Amino acid sequence: MVRKIRKACVIGSGVMGSGIAAHLANVGIPVLLLDIVPKDLTPEEKEKGLTLQDKAVRNRIAETNKAKLLKQKPAPLTKKENLELIEAGNLEDDLPRIREADWIIEAVVENLEVKRSVFEKVDRYRRPGSIVSSNTSGISVRQMAEGRSEDFKRHFLGTHFFNPPRYLKLLEIIPAEETDPEVTETMKTFAEDVLGKGVVIAKDTPNFIANRIGTYGLLVTVREMVKGGYSVGEVDSVTGPLIGRPKSATFRTLDVVGLDTFVHVANNVYHQVEGEEKEVFKVPDFVLKMLEKGWLGAKSGQGFYLKK
Ligand code: NAD
Repeated sequence: MVRKIRKACVIGSGVMGSGIAAHLANVGIPVLLLDIVPKDLTPEEKEKGLTLQDKAVRNRIAETNKAKLLKQKPAPLTKKENLELIEAGNLEDDLPRIREADWIIEAVVENLEVKRSVFEKVDRYRRPGSIVSSNTSGISVRQMAEGRSEDFKRHFLGTHFFNPPRYLKLLEIIPAEETDPEVTETMKTFAEDVLGKGVVIAKDTPNFIANRIGTYGLLVTVREMVKGGYSVGEVDSVTGPLIGRPKSATFRTLDVVGLDTFVHVANNVYHQVEGEEKEVFKVPDFVLKMLEKGWLGAKSGQGFYLKK
């Protein structure tokens, strides 16, 4: 039996969460898009006399990320009006509304403890039988579900979208041992028939398939660039436009992914492998220095390239 997914909730409204929300809105599915409540007021909010209790402040992160959907390139929305299907909120006030969703997608930072704390809340408020998934790049699905209710575990799996979700067709679906096969089938059918995705079912191993291979390739490329004394531009030319892959140059891709996310993803494998392979997944110091400076890529305006 394939169930209907009529309403979704996306938790985490950053690069991926907002993109997934836009992709759902493009196929006519209303989305509740939630993020955390800010800890501080902005200078503009102070000037307006707002407090941390005001709704405008409490919803600010999800609202701001939602508004960015109209400015991003390539365009995440097929029509401007689709933005109206996305309702921004926050993870404190709107938790009870998670019950409305047939599918809850988590897209918060790539950190097991943060994700677990989100799922603990989701488990308390979701409607039994609703599907819950994580957009993790490679954290163990089984570990994320540890300590959750039986109903949660049966309805929980990984749904790994690629960036940007509207344009990249691949979706990795990662069931854990306890995932009900009917839930995996529902997700696969929905992703293929409604979201237009090409689905690969992956095993629950560190970084699944695409990021296990992809991160390996990226890190080897970075090392060979340094060893060979090549520039970022030279490497991007031979891994991008000049070789006929207009969108997939190495360092441009890293800027789009976000260097913080990339480091989390590489570290995830680094901590779970031994020997020679471990060395490959070690993030080079210069990348860590970029992170320390807040050079996160496109989302911070500076990465390997300056954002135009
Ligand atoms: P991001 O940094 O752009 O966004 C993360 C969002 O999570 C932020 O809006 C932040 O405020 C929110 N957040 C942080 N802590 C939270 C909490 N405790 N509760 C609720 N929200 C919280 O990150 P992203 O690039 O969108 O990545 C999100 C997830 O998607 C990660 O698991 C990442 O590995 C995965 N992913 C990323 C990419 C990519 O290219 N960036 C691709 C595929 C998968």
